[in-house]
Amino acid sequence: MLSDSPTISRFSIHSDHHHLHRCSYNHHSQSHSPPSPPPPSHLRKIQILRLRRNFQISAIDAAQPFYYESKISDCIAKSKTLKIAIVGFGIFGQFLAKTLVRQGHNVLAHSRTDYSAVATELGVSFYSNADDLCEEHPEVILLCTSILSTDKVLRSLPLQRLKRSTLFVDVLSVKEFAKDLFLQILPSDFDILCTHPMFGPESGKNIWKNLPFVYDKVRIGHDEARVSRCQKFIDAFAKEGCIMKEMTCAEHDQHAAESQFITHTVGRILEKLDLCSTPINTKGYEKLLDLVDNTSSDSFELYYGLFMYNKNAMEQLERLDLAFESLKKELFGHLHVVLRKQLVGSGGRHLGFSHEAPVLSKLPRNGNGNKLSLNGNENGNG
Ligand code: NAP
Repeated sequence: MLSDSPTISRFSIHSDHHHLHRCSYNHHSQSHSPPSPPPPSHLRKIQILRLRRNFQISAIDAAQPFYYESKISDCIAKSKTLKIAIVGFGIFGQFLAKTLVRQGHNVLAHSRTDYSAVATELGVSFYSNADDLCEEHPEVILLCTSILSTDKVLRSLPLQRLKRSTLFVDVLSVKEFAKDLFLQILPSDFDILCTHPMFGPESGKNIWKNLPFVYDKVRIGHDEARVSRCQKFIDAFAKEGCIMKEMTCAEHDQHAAESQFITHTVGRILEKLDLCSTPINTKGYEKLLDLVDNTSSDSFELYYGLFMYNKNAMEQLERLDLAFESLKKELFGHLHVVLRKQLVGSGGRHLGFSHEAPVLSKLPRNGNGNKLSLNGNENGNG
């Protein structure tokens, strides 16, 4: 907003032209000498055009003509880097910071824990105090908090200290929850971009090429500066070669429950088996060991968040349970046929695989209920 006061505007204009100086300090000149009659309108237009051609910045404490503010916002739109404040500087926040700093963005951070030392190493400015962070007026607030703490952290931020149009971005692994929270808590002036980099410090350790990045432009203002700021943030991932997937938060959660939640669950089940490397590991087994490594390096809180805050997760957990039961039934069904033949004497010589045993079909797709069927009979009466 253009300020009327010569003292509160952030920039002033200096020029070798006197009339420009008079224009910038209009308030002062009016108080010392009687106002002169305004020039005819066509002369005023010429004067303004000259002023626009000749200004340069020299101080930051005087009132500005409106066109100057629009120039500043043009400059911001043209600059390729952003001032990004990461809130929640744990494993994932630090992981993202490395790449953002390498790309030349000005990265700030704030977290519950004091990460000053690690921040310095990464080239990030750390703020223990959220007020101090917000007074730096970052263009983007990037929330990298745990799913469970995001509500609390977001409500504790001094939003009134930020610039009115700040872009809020999150990276939570559940998206409808994040979107609803943002829409509920943030004033309508703030822009909202919900994202989920589908990789982490393990899978994206060396390179992000061909790793999926999901985003949903939930609320982005129409003016050029806002659109371009949002695009610049998205481009940070595109530049690294990520596979860019724009989809709604609801679509993301459906897909993520079927893929990511299943992956984490299987990894954590296998972790409970305490699997060890053997002298004769197959490739498949090596992959399972990797899966255990990958999933166990994430916090349990993250896994619990995937379950609690994605409404599709419970169905997947039940399907996994049913699938396991179904597989056991299939195995035991074959065993039953073989044993029966042995007992009645007709198949005593044959102890191999029996094609007479009931075959359990695959589970119906999501949303079709969880009924199991035998021999492909959907009613399960086979
Ligand atoms: P996380 O355990 O999900 O989150 C750790 C972060 O949350 C830390 O910054 C921690 O702050 C903060 N936090 C936790 N409880 C808090 C509380 N009560 N008050 C304030 N802050 C609190 O682990 P993460 O792997 O770093 O994940 C961060 C976010 O990224 C999550 O939302 C996750 O879904 C998302 N994500 C993670 C991955 C991944 O591979 N790890 C991938 C994609 C997206 P302090 O460290 O200061 O305590």
